[in-house]
Amino acid sequence: MATNKNFEIAIVGGGITGLTLAIALYHRGINIKIYEQAPKFGEIGAGISFGPNAVAAMKKCHTGIYDSFEKVCTRNSWPSKSKVWFDYLNGYDKSLKQAGHQKAEFTITNSVGQNGVHRAHFLDEMVKLVPEDIARFGKRLRSINEGSGGKLVMHFEDGSEAQADAVIGSDGIKSTVRKVMFGVDHPCAHPSYTHKYAYRGLVPMEQAVEAIGEERAKNSCMHMGPGGHVLTFPVNHGQILNIVAFHTNKDDWPDYQRLTRPVKREDALSDFSGYGPNVIQLLKLTKPDLDCWAIFDLGDNPVPRFNKGRVVIVGDAAHATSPHHGAGAGFCIEDSLVMATLLQDERVKSPKDLEAAFTAFDANRRERSQWLVQSSRFISDCYEWQAPGVGDDFKKIEHEINTRNGIITEFDIEKMCSDATEELTKTLRQSNL
Ligand SMILES: Cc1cc2nc3c(=O)[nH]c(=O)nc-3n(C[C@H](O)[C@H](O)[C@H](O)COP(=O)(O)OP(=O)(O)OC[C@H]3O[C@@H](n4cnc5c(N)ncnc54)[C@H](O)[C@@H]3O)c2cc1C
Repeated sequence: MATNKNFEIAIVGGGITGLTLAIALYHRGINIKIYEQAPKFGEIGAGISFGPNAVAAMKKCHTGIYDSFEKVCTRNSWPSKSKVWFDYLNGYDKSLKQAGHQKAEFTITNSVGQNGVHRAHFLDEMVKLVPEDIARFGKRLRSINEGSGGKLVMHFEDGSEAQADAVIGSDGIKSTVRKVMFGVDHPCAHPSYTHKYAYRGLVPMEQAVEAIGEERAKNSCMHMGPGGHVLTFPVNHGQILNIVAFHTNKDDWPDYQRLTRPVKREDALSDFSGYGPNVIQLLKLTKPDLDCWAIFDLGDNPVPRFNKGRVVIVGDAAHATSPHHGAGAGFCIEDSLVMATLLQDERVKSPKDLEAAFTAFDANRRERSQWLVQSSRFISDCYEWQAPGVGDDFKKIEHEINTRNGIITEFDIEKMCSDATEELTKTLRQSNL
C-alpha cells in the first residue's frame, strides 16, 4: 500500500491489543513489526465477551477483525434473549429448596446482547489478517534506549536488539514498557491485587440444563451474593457452559509473580458454602481440578501518562482493569482504533510527529480508561452486595449497572476518533512552536 509515512513502529506484545493494533496499522499502510516474548501468538483463558462499543471499534479498525469475531462468537441460545447481557439472580436465595429454574431479579440489556468468544479461537482468526513475517517471536523486551541515529533501540532478553522510530507497548498488565517509561520504583510499575479471585470451569451444556433448567443454562446469568458472584454464559456454539465464580476476601495472593494457581473444586464449594442450590450445583459440575485467577488491576497506582517521547503504552499495559464490566479488552480495541486513526493522519509523516500523535492518544484515552478501572471495582462490590449506599437493594444495583454500562457501551466511536484528530491538531501545533 502506498504511504507517505517515513517511520517504522515497533509493537511490543501480541495479545488482543497488539494484534488488533497491528492489523489496523498494517492495513493503513504503516510500517510495523510485532515483538512477542512467546514462541507464537496465543491466549490463555477461556471466554471473553464484547459490548457494542467494542464491536463498533472492531469494525472501524478493520472489518476482518469483526468478521473473525462473528465467526467464533456464541450468543445466548434463546432468540428472546438476543439483547440480554445478563439476567441477574439472587444466588443466595434460601427459599429455593433445590436446583432448577429460578426467576431473575432484573435483566440488563444492550444492543448486541451477550457474545462470548474463546480467546484463542478469536486470536487464531485474527492472525490470518497480517503477513507471517510481521512478528518476531521469543523476543522478551528488557530495555529501550535512544541510539546514535535517533532511532529507539530495543534490547531483548535473548541478547538481540532491534530498532524502530517509536515503540508501542501492548505488553499487558505487567508491562516492561511501562517500567521503562517510569522506572521500576514508580508505583505504577506494580499492579495491585484486588482481593478477588475467580474459579473458572467449563461444563457440558446437557449437564447444566439438567441441573438448573434450559433458560438459565443456555443464556447468560449472573448469580449475586455476599462476597461472591458467579457468572455463566454459553461458549463453543452453545455446547459448553462457561462458569466464572468470583470470591472476595482479605487474604493476600500467595505468589505475586503468578496470576493463576491450580485449586480443587472443594475450594470453590467451601468459598460458596451458604449459597443457594443453583450456585452449588453449578460448582459441583466443574472438574475436580480447577484454575483460580487472581484479579489484579492498576486501580491503586494509575499511570500518570500513557506516553513519554516516542514510547507509548496501550491496552492492559496502560489501564489494566478487573473484569467486572466485561469491558477491558473492548477498551483495548478502542485504543487500537484511536492509535490507528492518529498514525494514519496525513500530517503524521516523520518520527518527530509521532510524539505529538502519542500525546494526543494520552489526552484522548486516559480519562475514560482509568474511569473503567475504578468503576469495575465498584460494580463488583454491587454484585456482591457490599457497595456503600447500595448494599443488597436490587433496584439500586440495577440502576448502578445501567448507568455505568451506558457510559461504556453507548459511546460514540466516531466522535472518539474525531476528538483524537482534533487533539492531534493541537499537539502538532505545539510541537512545531
Ligand atoms: C478473568 C478475566 C476475564 C475477562 N473478561 C473480559 C471480558 O469478558 N471482556 C473484555 O472486554 N475483557 C475481559 N477481560 C480483560 C481482557 O482479558 C484484557 O483487557 C485483555 O486481554 C488485555 O489484552 P492485552 O493485549 O492488552 O494484554 P495481554 O493479553 O496480557 O497481552 C500481552 C502480550 O504481551 C506479551 N508480553 C508481555 N511482556 C512482554 C515483554 N517484556 N516482551 C515481549 N512481549 C511481552 C505477552 O506474552 C502477551 O502476548 C478479562 C480479564 C480477566 C483477567
